[in-house]
Amino acid sequence: MIYLDNAATTRVFDEVANEINKYYLQEYFNPSATYKEGRQISKTLLDAKVKISRALGCLDNEIYFTSCATESNNWVINNAFKNKKGNVVISSGEHASVYETAKALLSKGFDVRFAPLLDDGRVDEEKLLSLVDDKTNLVSVIHVSNETGVINNVCAIANKVKAKNKRTLFHCDGVQAFLKVQINLSSTQIDFYSISGHKVGAPKGIGLLYIKNSVHIAPFIVGGGQEKGMRSGTENVASIVALAKAVECFKDVIAKVDVKKNYDFLIEQIRTINGVKILGNSDLNSHFICCVAISGVRAETLQSMMSDDNVCVGRGSACSSKHGGNRVLSAMNCSNEEIEGAIRISLGVYTTKDEIVEAINLLKNNVEKLRGKQVG
Ligand code: PLP
Repeated sequence: MIYLDNAATTRVFDEVANEINKYYLQEYFNPSATYKEGRQISKTLLDAKVKISRALGCLDNEIYFTSCATESNNWVINNAFKNKKGNVVISSGEHASVYETAKALLSKGFDVRFAPLLDDGRVDEEKLLSLVDDKTNLVSVIHVSNETGVINNVCAIANKVKAKNKRTLFHCDGVQAFLKVQINLSSTQIDFYSISGHKVGAPKGIGLLYIKNSVHIAPFIVGGGQEKGMRSGTENVASIVALAKAVECFKDVIAKVDVKKNYDFLIEQIRTINGVKILGNSDLNSHFICCVAISGVRAETLQSMMSDDNVCVGRGSACSSKHGGNRVLSAMNCSNEEIEGAIRISLGVYTTKDEIVEAINLLKNNVEKLRGKQVG
């Protein structure tokens, strides 16, 4: 099987899978326990935080573990109207976990403003800034689009937002950027940054929220006081350790592979198919995600044919497929035909050139079949 849907989720690294078992079978103690086994686990969690914080360029005490990035995003967006006043500005390219949360607030009567996208999928900075005023509580802009892989210059956008209103908090969904686009959070004006483990070789069910030390946010869950009282609940020790290990593995592998070369090769191969349009901006894109609109085909059918050929590709994002249509591609002014025929190919650290060649040959055959030119 050729797996080209790494933006949806990734295979857990072997080393990570091996490590996890230890925390189920031997080191299973509660980190809040005060006997030495518990204290040791508590120290292990701190070590994990230190390792992960280095990858984000922040302090270890600015990291709060959550169950997933959806939780991290909900936490920040739902906190934005704690004073019941002001407004929130989000980009129209946000993942459903930000967008739907913001929409729910809008339907309760809060002032939520949606900043439009440029045709290449980046947020229109000028228009976003025009929506920010002296009452803006929060701005949220996704770092790397899960739909197209296009990169927003979130550090610069955060600076411009703060220059307009220094009290506005800035949130960034960093799920598709984590370990793939360099960031040093301490030297930015980003206040919140969400990430998810299962996109980088850790298991599903572990995420985190970076909260800048100078920023106040209400706790997400109260109870036993874990995560400095901000997110109670016994820590998911095995998955936290797994995430720290995955960070290490990801960095090791990525140092040895030329992801840009793979991406450029993929784009080159895709362009050999007639009637394709790369959505996003191949000069300003993550090298892990490529969204391509193929004329004269329905992505749903194509995806299923590729699956019959043992190749997994995405269609829009896994999450947006539940909502139907494609809100983000629509916001990029894509035509209905482009949206219908859009598939997402997302590379992993282990994707090989041979896999790309084979997958694109199969894609080409299936596209020709669908366009009515029987081959073979
Ligand atoms: N944000 C982005 C950009 C994503 O791609 C995803 C998952 O697809 C999420 C948030 C949600 O992550 P999780 O599955 O950890 O809730």
